[in-house]
Amino acid sequence: MKKKISIIIPTYNEEESLPFLHEKLNDIMNQMQDYDFEILFVNDGSKDKSLELIKSFRQVDERYNYVDFSRNFGQEIAMAAGIDYVTGDCAIFMDADLQDPPELIPELISHWEEGYDDVYARRRTRTGEGFVKKFTSKMYYRILQKMTNVEIQKDTGNYRLIDKRCINALRQMTESERCLKSMFSWMGYKKKEVLFDRPPRVAGKTKWNYVKLFDLAINGITSFTTSPLRLATYFAIPTFAVLGVYAIYVIAKCFVTHTVVQAFQAIILLILFFSGIQILLFGIVGEYLGRIFNETKNRPLYFVNEYNGKKELNEIARKEKNEKNME
Ligand code: UDP
Ligand code: MG
Repeated sequence: MKKKISIIIPTYNEEESLPFLHEKLNDIMNQMQDYDFEILFVNDGSKDKSLELIKSFRQVDERYNYVDFSRNFGQEIAMAAGIDYVTGDCAIFMDADLQDPPELIPELISHWEEGYDDVYARRRTRTGEGFVKKFTSKMYYRILQKMTNVEIQKDTGNYRLIDKRCINALRQMTESERCLKSMFSWMGYKKKEVLFDRPPRVAGKTKWNYVKLFDLAINGITSFTTSPLRLATYFAIPTFAVLGVYAIYVIAKCFVTHTVVQAFQAIILLILFFSGIQILLFGIVGEYLGRIFNETKNRPLYFVNEYNGKKELNEIARKEKNEKNME
């Protein structure tokens, strides 16, 4: 029996890129006759003709599949649905805009055949992305790595191949605030790096903006580590030390010079200083409280409008998920 390769493609308003992608995927599938393929588009509430295009692909080739969301849930959730619905022996995550070149697929698969569980593509270069984006992304990963013991793959996006056991692992990670990139790191398993040059998107515009990226960054940190909570301790220790020294100084001075504390300005400064710290700490606590709040809601991650595959399969994915949530 042939092994089955699943390819998960989150798709949001990609009508311009899809024809190019379709062509490339067909090439690859023709090249690799030793494998079965399942292309799974997760249509993330596209408002353009993406879904119609995908359906037209499926009409001529049953290897093309789709899950159609009831609305736009975002790329992370689209990938989560991909994890729930794939049926292959391994799964490849790929963007629809050809920034994750399909030419790399044979290499990813060959490393998987060697026994690696998580073969991730690392960007050697990133053309078509501004200096600011590259710089902020680099700094972000450096800081994130400092905060955790889990090894984080640098310059790595979501383009990767994971084995079935990783898919099963990810299915058990049902948190609602997701950052798949850090979940890949956290799950462990045997990893292998493959280098590639990241091209600019083939058509259309990026679906990300800085607000979304900032949200993703915060999710990345708070879903990974609680070390920001320790900031409270780091701030509190010197603060109390200064407070203690200052109090001794003031009292001693009063004794020596026989005066009273003359210091409404100092008080104002102190109030500002301490309330600043308090606000910061409340901010951090609020961050985690918010997460607890969201997790306790325990909502499904997404709703599916339509799935081309067998209904049972769809049900199994959801049932498994609910059982996991009950445990
Ligand atoms: N995407 C999605 N939902 C969204 C935003 C993006 O499914 O809300 C998909 C998009 O169609 C593409 C992938 O996620 O296949 C990556 O998006 P994009 O290329 O815009 O991000 P960038 O490469 O600029 O980081
Ligand atoms: Mg892109």
